[in-house]
Amino acid sequence: IAWNNTRLQSLQGDALGTMSIGEDITERYAIERIKNEFISVVSHELRTPLTAIHGALNLLSTGLVAPESSRGQHVINIAAESTERLVRLVNDILELERLECGRIKLVKHCVNAAQLLRVAQDQMQVMANRTGIKLEILPQDLEFEADGDRMIQVLTNLMSNAIKFSDSGSTIKLSVEAEWRTFDGETPMASVLFCIRDQGRGIPPEKMESIFERFQQVDASDSRQKGGTGLGLAICRSIVEQHGGIIWVESVLDQESCFYFSIPVKISEENYHEQ
Ligand code: ADP
Repeated sequence: IAWNNTRLQSLQGDALGTMSIGEDITERYAIERIKNEFISVVSHELRTPLTAIHGALNLLSTGLVAPESSRGQHVINIAAESTERLVRLVNDILELERLECGRIKLVKHCVNAAQLLRVAQDQMQVMANRTGIKLEILPQDLEFEADGDRMIQVLTNLMSNAIKFSDSGSTIKLSVEAEWRTFDGETPMASVLFCIRDQGRGIPPEKMESIFERFQQVDASDSRQKGGTGLGLAICRSIVEQHGGIIWVESVLDQESCFYFSIPVKISEENYHEQ
């Protein structure tokens, strides 16, 4: 508690006493701490590619490495890759920040789940072909209210992870089905359940929740080796939660991962009782 003391005096200027107002600042401190932690993680994440770019430019500008030599080309590639990583990081940080502050408004309209799966598959086909991975979809014509572009963003983010963490020759299956789910411990609601199943390296049980937090990865080398930012799943969770839904993963280590997200569908009281 922070105390704020104010002296009280009469109109004639005689001291009457002191008034103390206590303010519970626990929450303010907690928010401050989360903010500071976030800034320190972000600075650390940004510093790595910046240091690489700085080092590369230094080598070239001091003439220690000739730009046209093969070592020079290697150094230039490092600087270019680090710049791309920096851009990805800044974009993802800004995107997440805007989503969490509610500055990105969802544009909801009636969308078709089968259509969403097809668009996501089209967008990821090139990446899948390049890595020799097969994409399979099991579409169902379910219609619901959602921001279609954001739904596709969640699907393609999850598919891109599935591709990154699977070996060539494996298959990724996307499916959708209608279900009843209790979202807030109250009445079960009709919802649309999406599933992205891969045959990749899997996720250890103790990491299945933490990977949805910002910058959390199963292995510290994942971002460097696979080019990710560690923000993709946090962005997915934010989008799904803004639709009132939930997202989670089930996985068997070294066998498969299955990412699910379920979006509640508003249906009338009448229809609900008919089910
Ligand atoms: P990144 O940009 O690193 O992919 P994400 O937030 O999308 O960040 O994912 C966080 C981490 O979760 C990944 O770095 C990886 O360790 C793990 N992960 C995500 N998807 C999968 C998957 N399909 N299979 C195995 N591990 C995964």
